[in-house]
Amino acid sequence: MFNLILFGPPGAGKGTQAVKIAEKFGWKHISTGDILRAEVSQGTPLGLKVKSVMDAGHLVSDDLLIAIMESVFLKNNTIVPGFVLDGFPRTLNQAQELDKMLQRHGHKLGLVLALEVDEVELVSRLIKRSQDQGRKDDTEDVVKNRLVQYHRHTEPLIDYYIDKKLYKKVYGVGTIEDIFDQLCAEIKP
Ligand code: ADP
Repeated sequence: MFNLILFGPPGAGKGTQAVKIAEKFGWKHISTGDILRAEVSQGTPLGLKVKSVMDAGHLVSDDLLIAIMESVFLKNNTIVPGFVLDGFPRTLNQAQELDKMLQRHGHKLGLVLALEVDEVELVSRLIKRSQDQGRKDDTEDVVKNRLVQYHRHTEPLIDYYIDKKLYKKVYGVGTIEDIFDQLCAEIKP
């Protein structure tokens, strides 16, 4: 089984590319943002719990995310040949728990592929997305907050994965197809 993390700041285009990669390789795309948004829109107890946290652009607690990840993993790990993780891990604790979870099942991470996009471009993409999709966490203040959270909690993972020799990066500005080709060139399952 091949486990790929698609890494990068909010607005880098992880969702778009993760769908394409999952389709090409026949892997399962897991977007923790999509999972959480579905819980919110269905009004489940979990959704009610996380809604205000997400709307403010803060991170949902590690415990909840790790539990979600474990349950999605267990539901799929015997039937899919790989996972594309999008939006997880977002903290060092999540990364360590992911390693342990994979290890418990006799698997490991294959690659961490990062999309690099400069900050000015990110902010303008996220604000445009708020106008197009009406996502509540894409207003200007919240966008800035999500970038702060990224720098504080998620960026340190870069060194964690560089140390493990799993980290590769691709410049995330250009056409979707060009970026996709560059990402695929790094994936050797
Ligand atoms: P984006 O990639 O645009 O930043 P996502 O759709 O991945 O946004 O996530 C939206 C929100 O869901 C985050 O701002 C956060 O509140 C919550 N979330 C998603 N994944 C995680 C995670 N791994 N840890 C904590 N919170 C998360």
